[in-house]
Amino acid sequence: MPEQDNRGKAHLPKEIIVKCPHCRELLYIQDWKKNLKVCLHCQYHFRLSAPERIALLLDPGSFVESDMQMRSVDPLHFFSQSQSYAARLREEEKRTGLREAVVIGSGRIEGLALTVAIMDFRFIGGSMGSVVGEKITRSIELAEEKCTPLLIISASGGARMQEGIFSLMQMAKVSVALARFSKARLPFISLLTDPTTGGVAASFAMLGDIILAEPGALIGFAGPRVIEQFLYQKLPVDTDTSEFMLAHGMIDAIIPRHVLRPTLARLLQYYTPPRQDHCKGENSPVDRKLKLVTCKHEEALPYSMGNTHIRTPEVNAQQRPHERQGSRSRWEQVVLARHKHRPHTEDYIKLICKDFFELRGDRRYADDQAILGGLATIAGQRVMLIGHQKGRDSRQRLACNFGMPRPEGYRKAQRLMRQAEKFGSPVISLIDTPGAYPDLESEQRGQAQAIAESLEIMATLPVPLVAIILGEGGSGGALALGLADRILMLEHAIYTVAAPEAAASILWRDNTLAAQAAEAMQVSAQDLLELGVIDGIIREPSGGAHLDYAASAQLLAERLRLVLAELAGIPIDELLQQRYEKFRHIGYFSVT
Ligand SMILES: [Zn+2]
Repeated sequence: MPEQDNRGKAHLPKEIIVKCPHCRELLYIQDWKKNLKVCLHCQYHFRLSAPERIALLLDPGSFVESDMQMRSVDPLHFFSQSQSYAARLREEEKRTGLREAVVIGSGRIEGLALTVAIMDFRFIGGSMGSVVGEKITRSIELAEEKCTPLLIISASGGARMQEGIFSLMQMAKVSVALARFSKARLPFISLLTDPTTGGVAASFAMLGDIILAEPGALIGFAGPRVIEQFLYQKLPVDTDTSEFMLAHGMIDAIIPRHVLRPTLARLLQYYTPPRQDHCKGENSPVDRKLKLVTCKHEEALPYSMGNTHIRTPEVNAQQRPHERQGSRSRWEQVVLARHKHRPHTEDYIKLICKDFFELRGDRRYADDQAILGGLATIAGQRVMLIGHQKGRDSRQRLACNFGMPRPEGYRKAQRLMRQAEKFGSPVISLIDTPGAYPDLESEQRGQAQAIAESLEIMATLPVPLVAIILGEGGSGGALALGLADRILMLEHAIYTVAAPEAAASILWRDNTLAAQAAEAMQVSAQDLLELGVIDGIIREPSGGAHLDYAASAQLLAERLRLVLAELAGIPIDELLQQRYEKFRHIGYFSVT
């Protein structure tokens, strides 16, 4: 049972001053409130009530509460030595002015309609009993009925002990409702605030399409205190905080309170609910507004089709390879593909889309920075961008593991692909990796399984898939993002079953023969085009992409627009059939 929050209240003239429980500084209430109840010294985020959240986030006057009449009963006739459950409920009602620990309804953020459920920790520690479970479920159904995005703001110690097994069953109820909601292809944004633990963390709070958290919030299942008691072990101070959850791949972003509203507005703009026949009324003004926003993004791109002449990026396939590549050998192509100044996924993302919102974590173990992914708008179209990330300086390179993903990187990619499916967004993979990381821990966590599962998902993902090899396309680690409807390579990229050094080692037990291996394996873009494995080559500026980032990005973006437009014109069933045929028939053999 969570405790009430009485920190920072004792022995102070509480109408003037409040004490920060984190840094112990004294704050003038007026300044503190103006700062949205965030400590001016250490940025500690104080807890907010549900009415405060509504005032902070929703457009003034837009909130319409639903099911406000619901109240808890005492199904178990729960007996406590100090106070009966029924008496406790009455007391909490009086103290908080609420009927229960969650407020639900509909409202708007910057004009965009949404359905909200906002928990209030003041009411029996935000604990989930039958009413909380029922109201959360109804908010999900309301969002579906009104065809709006759903925002649930959690603040809860977990299940309500006083309702016993009924409380536990609420987790199941909310989960089945969310599974159904997911099929409606409407977005669910989960915001975790201090604290989100127990049965709430273990059900709906962690099932958001996007999971955000306020800084420094306590988030976890058991919570550090329980773990310490159970293991007789002192845990690091940051265990089970927002920051800990971000580092372990469990949430997408930590959003400071003062940018929460614009961040939510931005996310709502991404997730235009798809038009559905049963959707009525509520959605049309949103759609109109969203369309305008999308156009704005489009105009804000560094180059638009309207006013900039962009040369066709197609390499003339009639040219002989040696004419096109000058005197470059395949090994020189390898060296160029690995050039330390060659633009990486992150560079292209910065140059081709202004509204990229990174999504992090695999929701299982970690956030692998070797894979970078998130939401973006390209050519007025929502897309899911996923790419390998190598890092630029030595610190970044280490953080990104030199672009070699571990299983959690692929599982993050899978999560983003499934989300793209849900919202009908094309997936664009930007490939640049020496290969998947071959260490013992990756093996233990199922590297092979992770790659296999990625391939399985991409094989039938019912959205257009585009893969672009930017630099190194190395082995299964590249292919795990590369099973696509259209596969393109930059002019000086390579794509290979194994790194030439590894291949030389396997072939001849001598990795100094890498150049010969590169030659033998035919790793250049032109090779791959002639072998029928890729669909096209994107030209690079003279001398290579590293000499002109902007021009490279422009060539890539323009090609991407053409490909996206082409794929958008193909019915999805046909596209899936084509994808099947494309990969089914790669390879040569004879039948004797
Ligand atoms: Zn402070």
